[in-house]
Amino acid sequence: MSPILQLTGLSIGIGDKEVIHNLSLTVNPGELHAVMGPNGSGKSTLVSTLMGHPSYTVTGGSAEFLGENLLTLQPHERAQKGLFLAFQYPREIAGVTLRNFLFAAYNAQMAARDPAKKKVSPVKFKAHLAALMKELHMDPAFADRSLNKGFSGGEKKKAEVLQMKLLEPRLALLDETDSGLDIDALKTVAQGVQSMRSPEFSAIVVTHYARLLHHLQPDYVHVMVGGNIVQSGAAELALELEKTGYKEYENS
Ligand code: ADP
Ligand code: MG
Repeated sequence: MSPILQLTGLSIGIGDKEVIHNLSLTVNPGELHAVMGPNGSGKSTLVSTLMGHPSYTVTGGSAEFLGENLLTLQPHERAQKGLFLAFQYPREIAGVTLRNFLFAAYNAQMAARDPAKKKVSPVKFKAHLAALMKELHMDPAFADRSLNKGFSGGEKKKAEVLQMKLLEPRLALLDETDSGLDIDALKTVAQGVQSMRSPEFSAIVVTHYARLLHHLQPDYVHVMVGGNIVQSGAAELALELEKTGYKEYENS
């Protein structure tokens, strides 16, 4: 089985500062990896770089996605190949409705994956979107509001998960999609991710707290401190971290 994602000795800098040092990680088809760590350990740097955020520079190592060098691709090409990032801080875009945004994204993705496929009609799309929103316990009225404008923290995170479910990526990078959620929203978001699980879907779930992992069984948990993975283990590692925090790692 060839991996979905293979990171080998990856180093990443922001300006003159190196934030990620010599990081290696393999994600196989169907796997869910949790990356946990204190603030500032480089979690967002890692996933943003994988998506192609221009602020970050890869200074060493390699990243292969589906056997291909990821690092030479533009962000939209990465998306077309099935990579998806749910932002830690989703942007607000006034004047573009959630529905129109997702309709454009959906059509672009489907056209890239299968150029022969006919464009989905707005009517069909509306029904499909409504069904997904229902699954996520989202008020259908949100579809007609400007993207994320005036959404609460939790509503923004649900909109990210909605986008993920719609686009059906091969690998989803979820950057603290659990932060700012109340317990019901947390469960809904976890179920949203869980509903995607299949051999065709893998995920890296970045989280600061173990509580998301009570609802989501990761195959692996990685502890990230100071820009590298300092320990990896099974799901139980998250429960240990919940009790002990990251102090033990930070002092070593
Ligand atoms: P985490 O997501 O684990 O909280 P980040 O990846 O956001 O951590 O940040 C890792 C380090 O990189 C921190 O020290 C942070 O201050 C720094 N950093 C992140 N983004 C920038 C930026 N745009 N400019 C300068 N430093 C940054
Ligand atoms: Mg972060």
